[in-house]
Amino acid sequence: MTQKLPNFLGGQWQTGTGIGTPLFDPVLGTELVHVDATGLDLAAGFAFAREQGGAALRALTYRQRAGMLATAVKVLQANRDAYYDIATANSGTVKNDTAVDVDGGIFTLGTYAKLGESLGDRHFMLDGEAARLGKDPLFQSQHVLTPTRGVALFINAFNFPSWGLWEKAAPALLSGVPVIIKPATATAWLTQRMVKDVVDAGIFPVGALSVICGSSAGLMDSVETFDVVSFTGSAETAAVIRSHPAVVQKSVRVNIEADSVNSALLLPDAAPDSEAFDLFVKEIAREMTVKAGQKCTAIRRALMPEAHYSAAAQAISARLAKTTVGNPRHESVRMGALVNRAQLINVQEGLAYLKEQTEVLHDGSTHALTDAVVGTACCVGPTLLGTRDAPGSDSADRVHDTEVFGPVATLLPYRDMAHALALIRRGQGSLVTSLYGSDPASLAAAALELADSHGRVHVISPDVAALHTGHGNVMPQSLHGGPGRAGGGEELGGLRALNLYHRRSAVQASTAVLAALNPAPV
Ligand code: NAP
Repeated sequence: MTQKLPNFLGGQWQTGTGIGTPLFDPVLGTELVHVDATGLDLAAGFAFAREQGGAALRALTYRQRAGMLATAVKVLQANRDAYYDIATANSGTVKNDTAVDVDGGIFTLGTYAKLGESLGDRHFMLDGEAARLGKDPLFQSQHVLTPTRGVALFINAFNFPSWGLWEKAAPALLSGVPVIIKPATATAWLTQRMVKDVVDAGIFPVGALSVICGSSAGLMDSVETFDVVSFTGSAETAAVIRSHPAVVQKSVRVNIEADSVNSALLLPDAAPDSEAFDLFVKEIAREMTVKAGQKCTAIRRALMPEAHYSAAAQAISARLAKTTVGNPRHESVRMGALVNRAQLINVQEGLAYLKEQTEVLHDGSTHALTDAVVGTACCVGPTLLGTRDAPGSDSADRVHDTEVFGPVATLLPYRDMAHALALIRRGQGSLVTSLYGSDPASLAAAALELADSHGRVHVISPDVAALHTGHGNVMPQSLHGGPGRAGGGEELGGLRALNLYHRRSAVQASTAVLAALNPAPV
């Protein structure tokens, strides 16, 4: 049997007592390691993190904790090569896609180290100014944000084992809240290894950072009133978490990042010979193929004026045709594998479902695999679908509510802007939409129209062609999350992310007491 990865809980490394679950290389089919959480005393482990880890973290200031994040960045950077090797083997990703996860995670941690520095030597944050409660200014109300005295339990998805860990852990640890991470089983190895490197370096107080790999059984039962649960994954599992008694009966705070049928919109003024059109085409092809489309933010629906449907179909298909698919270790390969056989089957089934209401514009099955064996490798070529005309975009209801978590997108022609906006809204709330055009006023108007149903509106005009950060890239400065179907969660967005891990309270007191509460910053 391959090595069984130990869990870190209760301040010690503990190996599960069960048979464990094997993790595989999705390209070669070989077994890599085992994970197993059987026999862990979860109640004791959660209590240790809450009491020991939490108290030790809260005794530090924001600046001190920010310094620890910066040290963790150095440790992770020193071990970067090992992370790339694990990602190639376990996630089947090419180097550029591994960078999105590994370097994206380290970058996010570094960003919070810098943001935390700006909070200075304090133990809590003020929320707004003091407000008079009556005519006499002596008695006032000051809102404060103090770190919650619980643990932050992260239940993560398989597609970002590094970034998914650090984008959540950075704001939690900076807030002074201990972290217990439960990575998705399929790709738990990278998360476990990163936590191990940071724990072994002795950067954070014991109990501040724990990792549990394997079954999720019993995790939600271990959650107490002041804990925070942050979940990323499918809408089905999200519903299980949301309805758990800990959430329903103990008011445990939950943040949900679920799936989303994201869109991209070419504005009516962007003709096929325009720069905006080229940017639209490039971004769709890129979003479909980065991480083989296994990105919660990837473009699933691309809308263009009816008259430009054929031109868009041809231009995007031409780009997709150049995508070499196969073994990420081969230097000519641009797109690696799906994470495992279950995902491959999911994508094939989802594709078949969408094909019943769409036409195939570029067929992924025409891509030969490079240095990979069909039947063993979980690789699939990119497939572009389309609904041909505007009435088709209305009647093809499946494309508006089916997320195929792979290299698949659908082109949707629209009649006019009102029609385009209505089609996008049929996604019932998404993480991100991107807009392509060259008229600032039209782009701004469309951005505001779509803001209420999206966590992020990414606007691409020719003046930012070389500068923009990408439709699907989540930057720590900007909000990540989305309303409705996307789960209703909020992450990142700079210091806003700390709100999840703090409790807001109003202190009503005399001016003298409020002054004592808030000594001049050091
Ligand atoms: P998933 O099957 O829902 O699993 C997510 C996590 O939940 C895994 O760690 C899983 O553990 C755990 N889990 C499963 N059942 C559970 C239960 N009853 N109680 C507690 N935890 C449980 O999702 P996935 O297949 O890993 O991820 C793909 C989905 O995630 C896609 O739909 C994608 O859109 C979404 N996603 C969203 C975002 C975002 O930020 N919005 C980011 C990435 C992915 P096991 O692995 O051990 O089963």
